[in-house]
Amino acid sequence: MISISEAQTIVKRHRPNPGRAEVSLAEAAGHRLAEDVAAPEPMPAFDNSSMDGYAVALPDRDSAGGPWELAVVGESQAGDPYNGALQAGEAIKISTGAVVPTGADRVIPIEDTDGGSERVRFRDDGSPHANVRFEGEEVAVGDGVAERGALLTPPLLGRLASLGVAQVPVYEPPTVALLTTGSELVGVDADLQPGQIRDANRYVLTALLDDTGATLGHIESVPDRRGDTADSIDRAADAADVVLVTGGVSVGPHDHVKGAAEEVGFERHFWKVRQKPGKPLYFATRDAATERDTLERDTLLFGLPGNPFSATISTVVYVRPLLRRCLGHPHPKGRRMNGRLASPYDRLAPDRAQFVLVRVDGVEDEIAILRSVEKQGSHMLAGLHESDGFIRVPAGRERIEAGDHFDVTLFPWHAPDWDVSRERGMKHS
Ligand code: AMP
Ligand code: MG
Repeated sequence: MISISEAQTIVKRHRPNPGRAEVSLAEAAGHRLAEDVAAPEPMPAFDNSSMDGYAVALPDRDSAGGPWELAVVGESQAGDPYNGALQAGEAIKISTGAVVPTGADRVIPIEDTDGGSERVRFRDDGSPHANVRFEGEEVAVGDGVAERGALLTPPLLGRLASLGVAQVPVYEPPTVALLTTGSELVGVDADLQPGQIRDANRYVLTALLDDTGATLGHIESVPDRRGDTADSIDRAADAADVVLVTGGVSVGPHDHVKGAAEEVGFERHFWKVRQKPGKPLYFATRDAATERDTLERDTLLFGLPGNPFSATISTVVYVRPLLRRCLGHPHPKGRRMNGRLASPYDRLAPDRAQFVLVRVDGVEDEIAILRSVEKQGSHMLAGLHESDGFIRVPAGRERIEAGDHFDVTLFPWHAPDWDVSRERGMKHS
């Protein structure tokens, strides 16, 4: 049996290696950059006016104030510049965003003038460059705009559009297949027969992967038969970069996942992790180079225990970080906070590290106040539902006390933006 951190290190060594893709800006929202991006053009691209008014070349730039009366020799509109340079004593009408011509060194807002057409009268406040936005002021050519791993947010998409970056390099999302095993499993709308249970893991895990950016392909329910299990794993592994299997990884006579996976070419890296819940976690890889066209690439298989809390916590601790890392996420493990227990908890397994579910009852001095929740058996979903995150209690502790400090990892569904981010790809009417 290995420790949680040993298991995480092994998983890290075997990440699938999906390629990178160039996507158009229109498709890029929510992806992450696979390379740094530098500005190919300056921003703004030319000196332009920030006001509607007159671009002026004062007769004497050093004697501030005026009053001045200048000849109006033309106009610069947005998209339709004035051709030529201004001579001292000349002015042109100018619109916001229009090119400031050579020779003009400031823009006088229309409301500070008499608004004349042939000649214009005004006082100036003595500041050269007033109301001019200079070429390259915001971004110079070659300036870094965003780094590898940056999320393509609305403002970043806008900046890239402004700079003429039409295609961006992003991480290609890994494809995930999900197999839920168990002859007792039926669908959510089935007429339940004696001994049957509904497949809850399918819904927990698909929702849990939804906001990672990975593509969930193949989903299948598999009975506890060795041949069916092997066929399903083989097919899923051909179609996906990461295969998640729930159930069938314990020591029972009907637990076929390990044998079936190894029969179809998977190599085992570990089975059993010193953790509660989720001890029978199984991890294996298969060389994908022969099945698929790519270079060095493994197909990864996680045999997750069937109990819903076990399957969920294993997905949070091992699978989500892997997928997020593949997609360039700078903090793949998710959000953590310092925390302090407000109540003791004594249902610990001394031989294993334990994930204890907690609710965040408030935050004091940036420390989360934590309360353990009821109903955190490995077969239960109620505790998970009631909790905001978990703490990891090391092996060897028999109880933890009020006042003990632990880091709390917040569940992704605790994040305030979760319901927003998971809406990507949904249709609205
Ligand atoms: P197993 O890991 O196959 O021994 O399953 C452990 C427990 O989890 C059993 O009580 C199963 O009935 C239950 N279980 C397995 N798969 C699921 C599932 N997809 N949804 C809900 N419970 C499950
Ligand atoms: Mg089973």
